[in-house]
Amino acid sequence: MARKVYLDSAATTYVSSEVMAEMLPCFNAIYGNSNSVHSYGRDALAIVDRARDRVAHAINAEKSNEIYFTSGGTEADNWAIRGLAHANKDKGKHIITSVIEHHAVLDACKMLEEEGYEVTYVPVDKTGLVNIAEIIHAIRKDTTLISIMAVNNEVGTIQNVKAIAKIAHEYGIIFHTDAVQALGAVKLDVRDMEIDAMTISGHKIYGPKGAGCLYVKNGIKIDNLIIGGSQERGKRGGTLNVPAIAGFGKAVEVAVRDMSINQQKIKAEREYFLKNLKDKIPYVQVNGHPFQKVNGIANISFEMVDKESLLMLLDMEGIAVSTGSACTSNAVEESYVLKAMGIESEFANSAIRFSFGKNISKSDIDYVIETLSKVVERLRSISALTKAGRK
Ligand SMILES: *Cc1c(COP(=O)(O)O)cnc(C)c1O
Repeated sequence: MARKVYLDSAATTYVSSEVMAEMLPCFNAIYGNSNSVHSYGRDALAIVDRARDRVAHAINAEKSNEIYFTSGGTEADNWAIRGLAHANKDKGKHIITSVIEHHAVLDACKMLEEEGYEVTYVPVDKTGLVNIAEIIHAIRKDTTLISIMAVNNEVGTIQNVKAIAKIAHEYGIIFHTDAVQALGAVKLDVRDMEIDAMTISGHKIYGPKGAGCLYVKNGIKIDNLIIGGSQERGKRGGTLNVPAIAGFGKAVEVAVRDMSINQQKIKAEREYFLKNLKDKIPYVQVNGHPFQKVNGIANISFEMVDKESLLMLLDMEGIAVSTGSACTSNAVEESYVLKAMGIESEFANSAIRFSFGKNISKSDIDYVIETLSKVVERLRSISALTKAGRK
């Protein structure tokens, strides 16, 4: 294999050297238990405190103690949905979310339904945007929580989080957002956007895997996630993973610090990619919102091509892309996100997600376009033969 190009940054990223440098001393030099009362413990606690301050500052939280470290986005989403619903059940047992949320939210909602809660899954339009009127329409007296993701991981559509949060608060409803794909791609300010709870993950932003957090605004009631320890204000017990937390804190800080420069670069590369793609390959369709979307994600349908075969052939040429979420890597299945957007099967079954990282180069893109046009042409000629043969 001559060349390798990674275009799956929405699935995960490598750990940047800046982040790794922050983590390394925590494996041996500073190995204390951050809960211990001696100097070893205090040194570890200082690292954890710094990480917490960095995250709080990056999202403009009022207090650092509003940041609760978790094992990543899935845990934070699970906890937000179940923990907020349970803690506020006296007020009601109805929740509103969207059909295109990550499974970490959707499956937590399913679990609540089994416990007797009711969940309204609001639809999205053809661009992947949640209709705010639909949310207002779904609000009831017993609605306690609205959870809408900030950026969708398959198509990159950016939701109107601030407007939705405002509406939630007009009705006294708690608002949570899964911002895993948003951090470092769009500006996130929990106070300006009136967010009560927000999920972030480390490994999508050049931090370590298995590290993330849930922001919970002070005053918002949430049930404890893990008992048996006083860590994280008693809400999520267990000895803290100091290296992961140190890396996560640094990754968040750097993602926000470098956001505009990274986004400028990724935007240029993405435009170069799309222009060349449309020039060289006929019958392609870009899925998602035409402009209200993140630069890093391009979801593209290749008419008359089977996505599975395309993925495999690209992999053989060293190009790593995906069909959508890594969590439904049973890629033969139709994407529930594209389906919800009303994308016809023909297009949904030929859709590939290209997600660009911060160090993608023009020559990488040239190689991808060249390979794509070859592979797509080959697959289309086979598909034409098959169709002709069937007649
Ligand atoms: C990746 C992702 C998650 C899950 O985060 P992990 O840290 O991998 O558990 C949740 N939501 C969205 C939108 C994601 O892209």
